[in-house]
Amino acid sequence: MTPRYPEKPYKQRTALFPGSFNPFTRGHLSIAERGAGLFDKLIIAIGVNANKAVDKEAIEQRIADIRRATAHIANVEVISYSGLTVDAAAEAGAGYILRGVRSVGDFEYERQIADVNRQLSGIETVVIFATPELTSVSSSIVRELQSYGRDVSEYLP
Ligand code: ADP
Repeated sequence: MTPRYPEKPYKQRTALFPGSFNPFTRGHLSIAERGAGLFDKLIIAIGVNANKAVDKEAIEQRIADIRRATAHIANVEVISYSGLTVDAAAEAGAGYILRGVRSVGDFEYERQIADVNRQLSGIETVVIFATPELTSVSSSIVRELQSYGRDVSEYLP
């Protein structure tokens, strides 16, 4: 009998979406939603600086917040990692890195990291451009506003 759907001509495609996500904004959510459509599995990975004292509770809280914000996306997982992003990708079985680009500033930064990561590991970086209404949303602006007690709900999922 002929199968109704042919088998996929490629193996499972998994991407790692690394970042600080401090906090996870609507901009990040948009990249996760759109990126999840490109891959079989998308792993959102919170990078933790191994040289800084780590507040484990804060990281667990961030993981929980991101899981809640992405609960509607079936093929998303959330983890944290320390060390090189390419090592985390290899460990997670991800053959791609996903990043978001808002501006020429982001572009040049992402281009350099993508270049080094490809040289280190062969892993390709896929970038998705921010939608126009989210290009000015950044975690650092959210943190700044929060420090002055301002309402940041419009920037958060
Ligand atoms: P990092 O510290 O690694 O830059 P961030 O949490 O700031 O981590 O960002 C993670 C990724 O999400 C980066 O590729 C960044 O360019 C992208 N990003 C951040 N904000 C937005 C946004 N508003 N729209 C699209 N991409 C974004």
